[in-house]
Amino acid sequence: MSVKGKDSSSSIPTAIKKQVDALRRQIAHHDSLYFTHDNPQIPDSDYDRLFATLVDLEQRYPALISADSPTQRVGAAPREEFTQIRHEIAMLSLDKVFNEQNLTDFDARVKKRLQSDSTLQYSCEPKVDGVAVSLLYKDSLLERGATRGDGVSGEDITHNVRTIKSIPLKLEGTNVPTLLEVRGEIFLGKRGFARINAEAEKTGSKQFVNPRNAAAGTLRQLDSRITARRPLQMYCYSIGVVQDIELPPRLSDIFDLLEAWGLPLNPDRRVVDGIEGCHYYCKDLQEKRAGLDYEIDGAVIKVNDLALQADLGANARTPRWAMAYKFPAEEVSTTVLDVEFQVGRTGVITPVARLQPVFVGGVTVSNATLHNMDEISRLNLKIGDPVIVRRAGDVIPKVVKVINSTDNKSPREIEIPQFCPACGSAVERDGEVLYRCSAGISCAAQRKESIRHFASRSAMDIEGLGSKLIEQLVDLEILSNVADIFSLDVEKLSAMQRMGVRSAGNVVAAIEISKHTTLAKFLYSLGIREVGEATALALANHFGNLGKISRAGLEELTEVPDIGDIVAGHIVVFFSNQENLARIEELRASGVIWQDVIVSDKPSRLAGQTYVLTGTLKTMHRNEAKARLIELGAKVAGSVSKHTSCVIAGPGSGSKLEKARQLGVKTISEEEFLALLDDST
Ligand SMILES: [Zn+2]
Repeated sequence: MSVKGKDSSSSIPTAIKKQVDALRRQIAHHDSLYFTHDNPQIPDSDYDRLFATLVDLEQRYPALISADSPTQRVGAAPREEFTQIRHEIAMLSLDKVFNEQNLTDFDARVKKRLQSDSTLQYSCEPKVDGVAVSLLYKDSLLERGATRGDGVSGEDITHNVRTIKSIPLKLEGTNVPTLLEVRGEIFLGKRGFARINAEAEKTGSKQFVNPRNAAAGTLRQLDSRITARRPLQMYCYSIGVVQDIELPPRLSDIFDLLEAWGLPLNPDRRVVDGIEGCHYYCKDLQEKRAGLDYEIDGAVIKVNDLALQADLGANARTPRWAMAYKFPAEEVSTTVLDVEFQVGRTGVITPVARLQPVFVGGVTVSNATLHNMDEISRLNLKIGDPVIVRRAGDVIPKVVKVINSTDNKSPREIEIPQFCPACGSAVERDGEVLYRCSAGISCAAQRKESIRHFASRSAMDIEGLGSKLIEQLVDLEILSNVADIFSLDVEKLSAMQRMGVRSAGNVVAAIEISKHTTLAKFLYSLGIREVGEATALALANHFGNLGKISRAGLEELTEVPDIGDIVAGHIVVFFSNQENLARIEELRASGVIWQDVIVSDKPSRLAGQTYVLTGTLKTMHRNEAKARLIELGAKVAGSVSKHTSCVIAGPGSGSKLEKARQLGVKTISEEEFLALLDDST
């Protein structure tokens, strides 16, 4: 074969050419929506997939690469009403990897190119989901701010950048270069985002889909007074043009210099040894992700030694010494196939979206909560609609937004059922937004849910008595209430589906073990409305025994830290119901036993004090920390005010810690908190 030049493309299948054309058109369309209109219609993960497919095809068929391919540039052209600014040094984008193996491969490639086997030092930082910008300082003064744009030229956003409080207008300190270009990400914190959307809702203006979207929209304001009202932030991550200074040998040294001059740097950046260090960093960051006040979509890994960076150089689009490690997307698009209604433990009817199964936040999701009917009208959701689904951390997946509802050719309205989907009883409206099955405990769904709650880990902790098994037992009328659990035996259980004699035996043993419990767990397992784990513990510690709790009036109950009028009301109603009292006696008769709590006369050590938890704790879950504080008599509040006695700040603490410092509120570390707990035992 001696074909060459453009003829070489003639051997490429027409289907491939068509696919490449289609991909380019799609990518150009989404680029325009994202960069020019601040109105993305697909999640980033879908966009990344389109782009990766195109890159892959172009690698396999290099003859198809053309100058106008989106792979040959890094963004879209800026809007016309802003002045354009040409970057003296192009702002490159980063290559991306999506799994650990590919990150290890990156390290191997770097070493091979450097012809070195020694362990490399890497600078790691969170990949903040915001807008990439360049700031220019001349003789220490902020001269200009520009967006990255297409990497070659961006928009002049100086007027907006000047309003961002964390960006210094003048650099301070020694050895500030006469000319310095810093680059970084301007973003909006999660709390700032929530505030802006709450304000937009109040004024009836358009709400933003996510913080990145809101930051982009804010930076593109022609009126900087609007920008000034929004709490934008920035973290710097590199430098561009620089004059009259000898650079230090490592990137991390540059970061320290920038910080010394007053520029904002990400506090979660780290220097690590070798690719193992990077893996560890990424894992740790993923765990902290939900607790950070800003959105991230991964980590950025850079060779720390600047001389080695120079040796490695760059490809056409990306540097060879850096890599973006993308975390599993927290938002993806899918379709709502149907909406079903679930009946909860207290009869509340909750709409749940059945989804085209989709991989999000690291797991495959096929259901998402819709909370209530108000949420459905707020989303303007109809069955068949394409939607964006979000799942962050361990949070239950939720529908965030309807996209392209015109693609839904046969939309179906979602209506609250008139009759309970489980038992057929009438559905009643309860308050502003809730609907409830009117049948109470005679509703099978409510029975199942209350039994499931009773057996759950935080309650009686009956291992092996899960939802599927409870469902069968209730349907066959073997279980009709929680007390019936204690008359289950191997014979009854082994007749159930997927239950051998052995696993039935295990469940019976677990039921036996569960009989020895604590007052707090027993209280929680009863499923009194709005009595969660922390409240149950506070009740147990305050009253000491069940008799006192069941006889307590509203006034006595509200003396307990964290218990307000509404919860106190639910507790009184629960214990004035004869059926509930009879059930408790039945449980006691079956052998359920707990120790009363010795209530000391001296006041609790933290009585009258209000604590606030912020950031992530390494040694315990936040709920546990809260319970321990309540145990000591403290109140635990969600926000810092001048009434706060103390803030416990773990890593990743954001605005709460800042506020505490402003107000002069005492702050302690996790270690000091643990010492405080030790003192009191
Ligand atoms: Zn019902």
